[in-house]
Amino acid sequence: MADISGLLKKAEEFSCKVCENESLDKHTSFKVGGKCKAFIDINDAKSCRELVLYCKENNIDFIVMGKGSNLIVDDRGYNGAVLHFGSDYSGIELLENDTVFCKSGTSLSALCLFALENSLSGLEFAWGIPGSVGGAVYMNAGAYGGEISDVIISAEYIDLNGEIHAIVKEDMDFSYRHSCFSGGKGIILGASFKLQKGKKEEIRAKMDELMQRRRDKQPLEYPSAGSTFKRPNGSYASLLIEQCGLKGLSVGGAKVSEKHSGFVINTGNASFNDIMELIEKVRKIVKEKTGYELECEPEIIRYRD
Ligand SMILES: Cc1cc2nc3c(=O)[nH]c(=O)nc-3n(C[C@H](O)[C@H](O)[C@H](O)COP(=O)(O)OP(=O)(O)OC[C@H]3O[C@@H](n4cnc5c(N)ncnc54)[C@H](O)[C@@H]3O)c2cc1C
Repeated sequence: MADISGLLKKAEEFSCKVCENESLDKHTSFKVGGKCKAFIDINDAKSCRELVLYCKENNIDFIVMGKGSNLIVDDRGYNGAVLHFGSDYSGIELLENDTVFCKSGTSLSALCLFALENSLSGLEFAWGIPGSVGGAVYMNAGAYGGEISDVIISAEYIDLNGEIHAIVKEDMDFSYRHSCFSGGKGIILGASFKLQKGKKEEIRAKMDELMQRRRDKQPLEYPSAGSTFKRPNGSYASLLIEQCGLKGLSVGGAKVSEKHSGFVINTGNASFNDIMELIEKVRKIVKEKTGYELECEPEIIRYRD
């Protein structure tokens, strides 16, 4: 394995918080995942750039993580570095009356509350999505008829050669749960969103209504990564799973939620293999019985030697 101690030293030179052999189950909403070699809290664009270059020059694999709410991480861990965008890389700025810039480690919920405080409408759909702004842009997160691509106007990112770029929405190749960043174009540093002036009470009422719908429909009391499957063209994953009689199906500690069959949940001690086996079972049965191919929505981080 490449020079992890050198990477940790470099990160410390930039005053980033670092943890060696950090367990990733603490950092994922599924509460699953073994250790990574180095867990580094990115604190500014310069440190990010230097660490990306260091990884490249020293053949160190890395992944980027926000709030870990759309990840399924191998119990054997990740044999590389995790560049974490969290509270050390967060902040929101009102640029004009209705335009907001936000650093990528900011939580979506903080952004939604900021919009509410400033009577700005457009982000109500995102209230309750437990991700970071970077993760939401990467996934084009969406719910209840809205998605990030409806409100984003531009983003800043670092490419894998350490170059910083600005990119406008039109070039971000957004589609359902997809952006140009899906697959590794670069590391999102921040994004600007155009909202509309609205009435604070109406914005708050919409947010409350959508949060209540989540609480009523989703198994929020269990660890998960949200919807396990993307919506297939022409149907809904949860509907197909229910039609196939798979509600409550379990493998070890992983279970198809009885409350919302689109969610695989961790009932307490699910392993990575339990979750993956259950996902494969569901996919196979749904394909056999309905012909639909279900695609996993969360990113899967497998161990590699
Ligand atoms: C209970 C629950 C409900 C959910 N509801 C919804 C929902 O309604 N709609 C929805 O769309 N999603 C939903 N999700 C899934 C998830 O919250 C979103 O996909 C969210 O946008 C992921 O953000 P994150 O910061 O957690 O990303 P992570 O899980 O940390 O990462 C996901 C992917 O984004 C990449 N990434 C993260 N940050 C960056 C960055 N700065 N630069 C480049 N790449 C980055 C990672 O490398 C990874 O590939 C839900 C999840 C849970 C647990």
